[in-house]
Parts: sequence; structure tokens; C-alpha cells
Amino acid sequence: LLEMANSKYEYVKKFEVEDKLPPCNWVILRIDGCHFHRFSAVHDFEKPNDVNALMLMNSCAVAMLEHFPDIAFAYGVSDEYSFIWKETSQFYQRRASALGHINNQYNTCFWKLVQSGKSEKEAQELLKGTLAKDKNEMLFTQFGINYDKLPAMFKKGSCVYKDHVEETVKIDEAGNQLKE
Ligand code: ATP
Ligand code: ATP
Ligand code: MG
Ligand code: MG
Ligand code: MG
Ligand code: MG
Repeated sequence: LLEMANSKYEYVKKFEVEDKLPPCNWVILRIDGCHFHRFSAVHDFEKPNDVNALMLMNSCAVAMLEHFPDIAFAYGVSDEYSFIWKETSQFYQRRASALGHINNQYNTCFWKLVQSGKSEKEAQELLKGTLAKDKNEMLFTQFGINYDKLPAMFKKGSCVYKDHVEETVKIDEAGNQLKE
């Protein structure tokens, strides 16, 4: 990043806003429990509605509203909770795809720790509660990795799309294509 500032690559920063959710729009963030069908079986949830689990989810949602003043409203059902953020919120600089990046940054740290001899459990413990900047710092000081320099495909993923190509064809007066 330092190299990029005031260099001919400065213009790259303009592209960062591409990922931004438009201003003056309310944002909905929905979180759905992963593999809760199995999770609820393993923890003997009362079926189909375990009240304790629902109350725990509700308590978590209350904590979210206390922690993030920009959340205006939350709605939960089953293993999911949706949070509505005020249209003025600048949370995560209104980035739409911050989560993909966060995941890969976590995984990069996690596997570096494991490759350096920690068990998966120890690595998980070490990373618990860390912020993005902590992980950046850990990667740099412990492993000499500048996260910003990792391939974009790792950090942001890949896109596949169809593009228009221009092709000139010759037609006769009746509109039939002429062979080259
Ligand atoms: P995925 O990882 O794709 O989200 P999933 O297993 O979490 O899959 P969902 O479609 O999200 O499946 O459905 C959540 C499941 O979790 C429900 O079908 C139900 O079996 C279970 N579940 C969630 N909350 C409760 C609850 N309070 N009491 C009982 N079961 C629950
Ligand atoms: P689910 O069945 O709910 O999708 P999952 O085990 O597939 O669960 P995901 O959350 O989808 O888990 O994450 C995919 C996981 O697969 C990553 O966490 C990573 O461990 C692994 N993975 C995917 N692609 C690669 C890759 N190119 N190189 C190394 N590991 C990868
Ligand atoms: Mg689920
Ligand atoms: Mg998967
Ligand atoms: Mg669900
Ligand atoms: Mg996946």
C-alpha cells in the first residue's frame, strides 16, 4: 500500500468504491447458521422449535443492537437473523463483499499457524476475537507476509462473464450473409 500511494498505481484506489453499496440505501445483513440441521441434532434441540435456542439467538441479536448503533432493526427465524442497517451507516465502508476477504485472511493466518507447528485447535484459539488489522499484523511480523500482495484471486475470488465482441459481416441486397 505504501508503494502504491502517490505512484502511478494510485488510480487503482478508484476501483475500491466499485464494491460499495450505494448511499442512501438501507442494508440488510443476513446470517444463517451453518449446518444447523446437524447442529440441532447433536445438541438435542427440542423439535421443531427449541425455545432455549431461540432465546439464545434473540439474546445475541440484542447484543448486536447494543454493540452496533447503526442497526435499526433485526428479525430472526429458525437459525437465521437479519440485521437492517441505517442508510447512513458507514459500517465496513459499506463494502458489499467484505466477508469473502475476511474469510480468506482468516484462512491464510490459520494455515500459516498450522504449518508452523500449531494444532488446528491452537490456531483457532489464537485467532479467536482478532480483528482484520490484528491478522494483517500477525501475517507480517510472524510470517513475513504482506496480505495486500497476495493474489487477487485468493482475496477477492473470480468472476466469469460473457463479453460482446464486434464482428463485421457482409450482406447482399437481400440481407443474406456473403461468404468471405
Ligand atoms: P445450511 O448450512 O445450508 O444453512 P442448515 O442445516 O443450517 O444448512 P437451514 O436450511 O439453515 O439448514 O435450516 C436450519 C435448520 O436448523 C432447521 O431445519 C432445523 O432443523 C434447525 N433449527 C434451527 N433452529 C432451531 C430451533 N430453535 N429448534 C430446533 N431446530 C432448529
Ligand atoms: P459447506 O458444505 O457448508 O459449503 P465446506 O466444508 O464446503 O462447507 P465452505 O465454508 O464452503 O466449507 O468453505 C470451503 C473450504 O474449502 C475452505 O474453508 C477451504 O478450507 C477449502 N478450500 C476451498 N477452495 C480451496 C482451495 N482452492 N485451496 C485450498 N482450500 C480450499
Ligand atoms: Mg442454516
Ligand atoms: Mg463449501
Ligand atoms: Mg436457515
Ligand atoms: Mg463454500
